Amino acid sequence: MNPLKFVYGLLEKVKSRGGLIFENTEITGKRYEQDHALFYTKEHREIRARYVIIAAGYEDSDFKTEKNATLASSYAVITKPVADFSGWYKRTLIWETARPYVYMRTTPDNRIIIGGMDKDTSYAETRDSKILASKDKLITAFNSLFPDIQAIPEYYLGAFYGGTHDGMPIISQNEAYPNCYMIMAYGDNGTVYNGVLAKIVEDQILTGASPDLNLYLQTRPLAAK
Ligand SMILES: Cc1cc2nc3c(=O)[nH]c(=O)nc-3n(C[C@H](O)[C@H](O)[C@H](O)COP(=O)(O)OP(=O)(O)OC[C@H]3O[C@@H](n4cnc5c(N)ncnc54)[C@H](O)[C@@H]3O)c2cc1C
Repeated sequence: MNPLKFVYGLLEKVKSRGGLIFENTEITGKRYEQDHALFYTKEHREIRARYVIIAAGYEDSDFKTEKNATLASSYAVITKPVADFSGWYKRTLIWETARPYVYMRTTPDNRIIIGGMDKDTSYAETRDSKILASKDKLITAFNSLFPDIQAIPEYYLGAFYGGTHDGMPIISQNEAYPNCYMIMAYGDNGTVYNGVLAKIVEDQILTGASPDLNLYLQTRPLAAK
């Protein structure tokens, strides 16, 4: 799946159903009044809503204080298009369960994405200082599996990668903000988790209750991983 195309597809669906989309609108503050929440934008505008779903990823301000959340750094390399994939059975996606792990897949324009080699740091400077070395390690790991495929790096990056101690995503609620749901779909299957959590929050808002909400609330007992 191409995640960017996927997100644009979702936004098109929202638009086709009459939803309004405001890009580049940073939320800088919030307040709750009687029966509605007020959110403030960087441009000093005010958004008033009875129900709010916050899906701000790793930048969510509640993330930093969530005791179940973890933050590490991950790396990826995208190669130049490769002429010959001989030896790579059906160009099958590979994802190691080892730690540190490496994953690799090909793209429709015949590049290879090689990623992983996570580091246990949540500091951007430390993360970025390891980008070049991680790029080399990822290429070496690829070459050890496919010595005959020429993998020449074209793009490479380091990114934060959020997870939870018990491996489960979180729906966070705050007594001071009734009817506001913070979705923290952290973990290796974050995109899949998002689908599950969205359904639960939808049920909660439309019918007043979801039988599965308690499984994901931040107040649940921590399960062993
Ligand atoms: C390297 C890497 C590899 C991954 N691989 C996989 C995978 O293979 N499979 C999988 O299922 N998941 C994977 N994930 C996880 C997945 O990407 C996330 O779980 C998913 O993107 C979370 O979606 P989200 O919409 O909750 O948050 P995000 O996609 O992080 O989106 C949050 C948005 O909120 C915006 N935002 C933040 N603060 C504010 C603010 N104050 N005002 C306005 N906007 C704000 C941000 O700019 C961002 O656009 C991976 C993540 C990383 C980093």
